[in-house]
Amino acid sequence: MIDFYQVSKDYGSLAALKPIDLHIDSGERVALIGPSGSGKTTLINLLSGFIEPSFGNLLIDGNSVANLKKTKQISRVLGVIQQQFDLVSHLSVIHNVNAGRLGEWGFFKSLLSLINPIGKSEVVDALESVGIEPKLYQRTSTLSGGEQQRVAVARVLIQDPQIVLADEPVASLDPYRSEELIKLLVDLTIKRDKTLIASLHKLELVREYFTRVIGLREGHVTFDVPVSKLNEKMIAQLYSLDAS
Ligand code: ADP
Ligand code: MG
Repeated sequence: MIDFYQVSKDYGSLAALKPIDLHIDSGERVALIGPSGSGKTTLINLLSGFIEPSFGNLLIDGNSVANLKKTKQISRVLGVIQQQFDLVSHLSVIHNVNAGRLGEWGFFKSLLSLINPIGKSEVVDALESVGIEPKLYQRTSTLSGGEQQRVAVARVLIQDPQIVLADEPVASLDPYRSEELIKLLVDLTIKRDKTLIASLHKLELVREYFTRVIGLREGHVTFDVPVSKLNEKMIAQLYSLDAS
């Protein structure tokens, strides 16, 4: 469903992502791992259409991401969970969850929903499925980090895209909450038949919850294997400090 054909991304003279070919099928759960600066965020941002490839073609079900974006179909195809920063912290929970509908609703309906939230029962359902007692009108900034991440997951549930992208979704959570969040995300993506692509550093979570692992280093894919094939040597090479 996702096809990278010789996709690369340069920032000026820096090749953040060297030309890569990558094919990801529906229902896969792909973990992106690699040292800081290896290109994980660049890859995720290319997929979400946030940035465009310098060269190559990036297709989802045969359509270019750029075109999906132009024709506003992208929100049905792709949802993104960022680190907790992209929730609007002074708004209440219900507004943040409803932001998952921005693509579908258009500007005026979304604006209207800020005044009088629409679709309340769906928001309650989404929050219940991520395990937050419906605190609909609480300011998002007063929730704990773990709860805010759950609100971000609920927002993607409301958006209901085919592919869920998450860039270091658990970077700011403690080990217990990290596992809880990944487990939740994985349970929901399995139950709702989604494809999941996430970058993360916690290898035990990669082994437990993902089906495929891609190692990135200096903009190259150094391995791309089923998680069962991931071994210590691959990990040591991926993260090794010597730049050979
Ligand atoms: P990761 O997410 O694996 O830490 P990134 O994809 O963020 O890596 O970055 C890959 C490389 O591209 C890094 O060297 C980073 O400094 C560089 N980079 C990322 N975004 C930009 C940008 N907007 N302008 C210039 N360089 C960038
Ligand atoms: Mg990153």
